[in-house]
Amino acid sequence: MTDVHADAARASGPVLPGMPNLHSHAFQRAMAGLTAYRVNPADSFWSWRELMYRFAARITPDTLGAIARWLYVEMLKAGYTSVCEFHYVHHAPDGKRYANPAELAQRVVDAGSETCIGITMLPVLYQYSGKHGALRYGVAPHSLRALLEGLDAMSPGAPVHIHVAEQTAEVDASLAALGARPVQWLLDHFDVNARWCPVHATHVDAKETDALARSGATAGLCLTTEANLGDGIFPAMDYLDAHGAFGIGSDSHIGVDWRAELRLLEYGQRLLRRQRNVLASSRTSHVVDRLFQGALEDGARDGPRGRCARGRRARRLHRARRRASGSRGTDECDVALVRRFLRTWRNAHAGCGCRRRARRP
Ligand SMILES: [Zn+2]
Repeated sequence: MTDVHADAARASGPVLPGMPNLHSHAFQRAMAGLTAYRVNPADSFWSWRELMYRFAARITPDTLGAIARWLYVEMLKAGYTSVCEFHYVHHAPDGKRYANPAELAQRVVDAGSETCIGITMLPVLYQYSGKHGALRYGVAPHSLRALLEGLDAMSPGAPVHIHVAEQTAEVDASLAALGARPVQWLLDHFDVNARWCPVHATHVDAKETDALARSGATAGLCLTTEANLGDGIFPAMDYLDAHGAFGIGSDSHIGVDWRAELRLLEYGQRLLRRQRNVLASSRTSHVVDRLFQGALEDGARDGPRGRCARGRRARRLHRARRRASGSRGTDECDVALVRRFLRTWRNAHAGCGCRRRARRP
């Protein structure tokens, strides 16, 4: 390195590029870990989703702002320096619209700027796009049908993130309604390219896997959430062998740790294939190198982040010095937040027969 400004900040230790987090529903951080008991023997993604929607219906602007701030600080501490926020909570607990329809989205954006994490806001239902400083907007159609109706209204450069093929039931519904598997239908009807981020895409057949890899889209993989929800396993080996691009997301925030996401990406393939070092390649024999570089490079394609290069925004991590002991400020703040989250969660469980277990130990 030869071109160093005199006033450049100097890190006190080794420096790593910050990892982009491609998929987040911030409010779900407050229910992570609180759904890990059986409500009925047929518990599945769908019963989890029912509770999640009930929980979402009780979120207020203040609680969402507090949750998002806490989450984004956790992300920064864990090594994520940017996040794509797939935001679909828009209404007040009574079901009515706020005077400002973007009230809740604004609280999430504010949390991003207060914590200094880079944020791409993807408001579901609202079809608009634009760019403002470190904040970027994209579009997140909530379904294939919404995509058909809204895509034409979008800016041609805006990133497109969409949940797709997370559950086999979605594939069955798509075959019945559209006559094609969801990812195949997307590829057939749109110019799916580098601006696209199909999130999950868990249930793809061999033809879809190859075509998605060749499209240039970035598969948004959320391994800890997909495992937590029992979604299934994305065919990562075939996809990477076909040079598919991917990024990672902490999604429901059952864990906020990019190392855990990458580890599970590899381990899922090991369990599936009863092999080891599955996601290494002939060019990169170290699994971690291949996955770290892939998630960093591909995950940063929707913005000037990630890769260390001239002209890109520098978002770096370095090992911080230990904070002086004796300060209780943060801990007290955390306790207050936890209490507030538990209250919200207990309310979300009202009437579902599990309230007794929701009490604080
Ligand atoms: Zn999601």
